[in-house]
Amino acid sequence: MDYTKYKNYVPLDKMTKVDNYPEYIVVHNSDSDVDDFISIQSYHILERDFENVGYHYVIERSGDIKKGRPENYHGAHVAENDINKKSIGIALCGKFETKGPNDNQIKSLKLLLKSLIDKYSLSKENIVPHRHFTTKKTCYGSYMDDNWAQLIINEEDIDYKKKFEKCEYEKKKEQESFISAIIRLFRIRK
Ligand SMILES: [Zn+2]
Repeated sequence: MDYTKYKNYVPLDKMTKVDNYPEYIVVHNSDSDVDDFISIQSYHILERDFENVGYHYVIERSGDIKKGRPENYHGAHVAENDINKKSIGIALCGKFETKGPNDNQIKSLKLLLKSLIDKYSLSKENIVPHRHFTTKKTCYGSYMDDNWAQLIINEEDIDYKKKFEKCEYEKKKEQESFISAIIRLFRIRK
């Protein structure tokens, strides 16, 4: 598709301005039946007159994660309080008023959220639905609680941490018994 005749159009690879400093991760639903990145991108450019797709990431129903704007370029996904310059915007394709996203989407969202909170050293509490910043929207959809996106990464993380700690503990025990075996041997020979 040729977007070049639209006045504000900027190709994604030309979005090189650095004016976004993520403090929040804002999760959205596309609030439509569209199922792919391209539809959202063309809607934002052609109908909304955005420079390009407003989100930094779009998760399609297949679970595919499509990259939108570069993370360090301001988003166009929250109208209030300059949040677009303090956040990463992720949209899940779908409308979640009466049901939630599918398993593929949740799996991908989980991975993406984990890598982003690590990268920007954010706390899980800073993963919020769009409606956190406005009363005018229900986005990411009334079907999910406000802390839904925070909770999907919790369980596995805690589990992972426990496993890691257990493994470290066992390693330490092993080392200790190896060292004491050497000490015993040394004592006997002495
Ligand atoms: Zn939204």
